[in-house]
Amino acid sequence: MKPATDYPGRVRVAVRLRPRNAEDLLSDADFADCVELQPELKRLKLRKNNWSSESYKFDEVFTGTASQKRVYEVVAKPVVESVLSGYNGTVMAYGQTGTGKTFTLGRLGKDDASERGIMVRALEDIVANISLASDTVEISYLQLYMESIQDLLAPEKTNITINEDPKTGEVSLPGAVTVKVQDLDHFIELLQIGEGNRHAANTKLNTESSRSHAILMVYIRRSVPEKVEDDINSQDRKTKSNLPLVRKSKLLIVDLAGSERLDKSGSEGLLLEEAKFINLSLTSLGKCINALAENSPHIPTRDSKLTRLLRDSFGGSARTSLIITIGPSSRHHAETTSTIMFGQRAMKIVNVVKLKEEFDYESLYRKLETQVDHFTAEIDRQQKLRESEKYDLEKQLRDCHDSFNETRKNLVTRSEFLEQKNTRLELDIEEALAELNCQKDQNSLLEDKIADLEMSLKQNKQNQLENCTYQKALADTTQMYERKIAELMKQLEVERAKSESAEEQLDAMKKLSDEHKKLIQHHEMENSKYQRALADTTQMYEMKITELTKQLEDEHTRFEGAQEQLDLANMLLADYQNSTQEQEETSELRLKLEEMYRLHESTVNELQSLKAEFKDQIQEKEAISEKLYAVQEKLSAEEKRRKAIEHELVNLKKGAPEGDKHFEDKKSYVKENIRGTSVLGTSASLNKSGTLRVTQSAQRATIAKICEEVGLQKIIQLLTSEDLDVQIHAVKVIANLAAEDVNQESIVEEGGLDALLTMLRSSQNATILRVASGAIANLAMNEMNQGLIMSRGGAKLLAKTASGTDDPQTLRMVAGALANLCGNEKLHTMLKEDGGIKAMLGMVRSGNNDVVAQVARGLANFAKCESRAMVQGHRKGRSLLMEDCALEWLIDNCNTTSASTRRHIELALSHLAQNEDNAGDFISSGALQELQRISNESSREDIRNLAKKMLKSNPVFQGEMRLGQQ
Ligand code: ADP
Ligand code: MG
Repeated sequence: MKPATDYPGRVRVAVRLRPRNAEDLLSDADFADCVELQPELKRLKLRKNNWSSESYKFDEVFTGTASQKRVYEVVAKPVVESVLSGYNGTVMAYGQTGTGKTFTLGRLGKDDASERGIMVRALEDIVANISLASDTVEISYLQLYMESIQDLLAPEKTNITINEDPKTGEVSLPGAVTVKVQDLDHFIELLQIGEGNRHAANTKLNTESSRSHAILMVYIRRSVPEKVEDDINSQDRKTKSNLPLVRKSKLLIVDLAGSERLDKSGSEGLLLEEAKFINLSLTSLGKCINALAENSPHIPTRDSKLTRLLRDSFGGSARTSLIITIGPSSRHHAETTSTIMFGQRAMKIVNVVKLKEEFDYESLYRKLETQVDHFTAEIDRQQKLRESEKYDLEKQLRDCHDSFNETRKNLVTRSEFLEQKNTRLELDIEEALAELNCQKDQNSLLEDKIADLEMSLKQNKQNQLENCTYQKALADTTQMYERKIAELMKQLEVERAKSESAEEQLDAMKKLSDEHKKLIQHHEMENSKYQRALADTTQMYEMKITELTKQLEDEHTRFEGAQEQLDLANMLLADYQNSTQEQEETSELRLKLEEMYRLHESTVNELQSLKAEFKDQIQEKEAISEKLYAVQEKLSAEEKRRKAIEHELVNLKKGAPEGDKHFEDKKSYVKENIRGTSVLGTSASLNKSGTLRVTQSAQRATIAKICEEVGLQKIIQLLTSEDLDVQIHAVKVIANLAAEDVNQESIVEEGGLDALLTMLRSSQNATILRVASGAIANLAMNEMNQGLIMSRGGAKLLAKTASGTDDPQTLRMVAGALANLCGNEKLHTMLKEDGGIKAMLGMVRSGNNDVVAQVARGLANFAKCESRAMVQGHRKGRSLLMEDCALEWLIDNCNTTSASTRRHIELALSHLAQNEDNAGDFISSGALQELQRISNESSREDIRNLAKKMLKSNPVFQGEMRLGQQ
């Protein structure tokens, strides 16, 4: 069998002997001590009688001199250390009243620290070994008396119940106050309070403290450092991983009531029942100890409160030390023996010490609660932050929304404004376009007007030329009439017998002469009016007048011849004459003829004086031309500046009718002049020796009269007369009539145009061809007639005429006619196909400036009409002029000295350049260089600008010019 000392959990039992006190010394003076201690053997000899003794072995044996410190260190300290390590522990004192239990356990040692008992020293050790930060020490101080537990720290609490955990068997006193111990002084204070309360209670109950049990319960709660790996339950801990561990251990220091029997301790006056209760707990303890010592299966722990409280201390899991106190006196031999036996039995009890370690759910809970609080606060904080952010964001969103709405509103407003502006601009553009178009129309109108003015000027010039022709015709007519007079003279000679009737005829002629005189006077007045217009005639007209003068001289010569013939006739008449009266009449007639001669002479003089006047008037005309040129310059300048143009246009309009009137005057003047001279010159001169003006004004009337008398139809019929002279005269009259717009319609209606064309077709006579061409040229001025002329092969005939003659005048007429036809865009194709263009270009061979001028005018007309048609969109493709090499012609002739011809050529080139399909021809023929030259050097600003515009607007030209620069 294993010795009892080998079991680590065995209840340790020490015995302490109180030194003899005064009472012992007094009563036991005669007796030896009943015990003999053998501390070195840890034995105690108990004297049975004087001769025998019994020896008992204890875990420790303290003599009366054993110090408090040593007692503590041997008995209590191992228990205290064990409690600090997490085991329950019990230190209990058992012994007879007055043997020093309280001295051993509860001595406070206030005056002498060496006298401090186990309670104070245990607490001193505990406080020194725990960490007040992580560990706690709490105490309850109780008293058990008559099976009632009273709280010594809160004496009002009595009859405190004992709770037992059914699972662990852990005993607790929930009704007892537990006070947390701060330090040793605090503890001593609490013990003192407890002692005070115990004394007061006992006094009140009229009891003795020795009859109650004092129980100090020290609860130690220690956190287990996580690094510390204890072998015990480590596996279990591992499974619970990181949960905090706590060791809850309990130290019981029990100062038992005195173990002596009641009767001996003299507790009189108590009821039996009461006496039974007083010792119940102690008796039960003894029984339990006995049972435990004997390994009895039943331990009557539940019999008393004390055994219930000490359940863990004996036969439980606590480390237990028992100190039994004995006195030396033999008087108490029995009690001493009993005490020793109690100790001996107790020594046999083996406890199974257990570590009181558990998971610290409380601190975990607190920790978790703290964490939860922390997280809740954090979540709350975050939530508040989110809310605040959300509020901010919402505010920002609202702001954004507002600003977006604002912006959108602004944009809408802006867009509306822009739309309005756009509409306004579009309207402005439309207006501007309309205005531009209007301006363009006005410009082309002005251009046309200028061209017409130019044409009119040219026509005026031509008419002047025509006038010369009529002057010639006048001479011829005069000659014819002279011959008729000669014939009349012959008739007079033959019809001498009818002299009386001749006389009557003469009278009639006289009357006629008078009438004519009146007419002449009237015409003279008109003539003076037209003299102003005559001032506009050209130098050429002057030359023709010289020619006229010469012709008049010739006429005079012829007249003289006629007079001679007349004289001869008179002589012959004299031969026949028997009647003097008739002779006298004849001589009178002769006188009249002589007078007529003088009249001619005076006419010549008149004409010479007129010549001087003409010179002055030519200068005037030049001034007017300059003025006209200046106006044209202004007009071109005004193309750029619209308002200026409009203003100037008003001026021009003011000036234009004046010019037209002037032009009309000139035109009619020429016509009248021709007529007067051609038809009635002779008759007029017969009756009145007036001025040349009279004769000229008479021409118009003469032709009108012939027309009136003979009838237009008859004159037209005369065109087909077999008599060449008649034909010639007739064509001249028709040509003259054709110069006047009012006659043109009737001439065409009566078949005049056909007759004229027939003449071109069949006549070989140069005069007829020339005059007929002139007449057609006149008719070709009228747009309606142009179509008729073309449809009746006029162009072909004119071409044929041109090819058949070298006469510059004829060529000029033909060229003029063709040039007029060029001004009708509808006829262009036919004109080209009928060889009109070729004929015009061919006519230059004559080298005559007037012919060239007409051709240039024609080409300019053609090109202008073409470009206009192109702009209007009813014409496309390369110019019709190109195939007939007109471009080459224009380039060849652009260096002409005639300013007007050059201008026409420049205009023609500029207009041709407008057609992009002509670009190739321009480049290959060198016309481009010419166009560049025109753009820089043309004397006319408008033409320069037109050429520049063409150069700029045509990309082909641009490319070519760049290439030329490289
Ligand atoms: P109990 O509590 O067992 O009734 P006490 O402790 O009251 O006994 O002791 C009785 C008396 O004996 C006290 O006056 C005490 O001072 C004294 N006494 C007890 N033990 C000793 C000791 N070991 N040394 C000196 N005096 C002691
Ligand atoms: Mg005591």
